[in-house]
Amino acid sequence: MSLYANVRSLIHRIVLSDIKTVSRFYSNQNDENVEEKTIDPSKDRTKIIPVETSIKYLQSKAYQETYGVKPVWTLYRRNHKGGFAPRKTRKSCIRSGVISTGNPCPICRDEYLVLDHRNTKLLQQFISEYTGQILDAFKTGLCQKKHKELLVAIERAWDQGNLTYDVPFREYDYTLYSKHQIKTTF
Ligand SMILES: [Zn+2]
Repeated sequence: MSLYANVRSLIHRIVLSDIKTVSRFYSNQNDENVEEKTIDPSKDRTKIIPVETSIKYLQSKAYQETYGVKPVWTLYRRNHKGGFAPRKTRKSCIRSGVISTGNPCPICRDEYLVLDHRNTKLLQQFISEYTGQILDAFKTGLCQKKHKELLVAIERAWDQGNLTYDVPFREYDYTLYSKHQIKTTF
């Protein structure tokens, strides 16, 4: 009987030690994973910043010191191989909430620049003052994702009257619309 008890205690000990090592192994692995997942807070873009904050930021001293009176995209240059920039801009600078590139586009690099139809001071910087048209992504350097967001925001701002736009002046020949000649007096 004593032999049986000995064997039983031995098996118990082996099993317990096995469980301990296994659990230690997994706990170590978890710790390693956590260490790998820690990301640079300056590259984290999971935080959603409200438009009101962005509007206040554009009027703040910090913004003035960073950009001055120039549009946000003027001093941006994309890093690329060779003498000519790629024809298309980047698809997106942000992948799964983290900046995935060394030089993100002017909107992605500053998390306080939020594209929204209410943020007119930012949207105006992407409209040509000569033609009134939206500037091309090739000129501004915005990634394709942000450029699409910009188009939506500007269209919405025009639609809701936050931004004004000029309609070309047309002179109508009213004789084409009515049988009787309209007497115009000036
Ligand atoms: Zn971008």
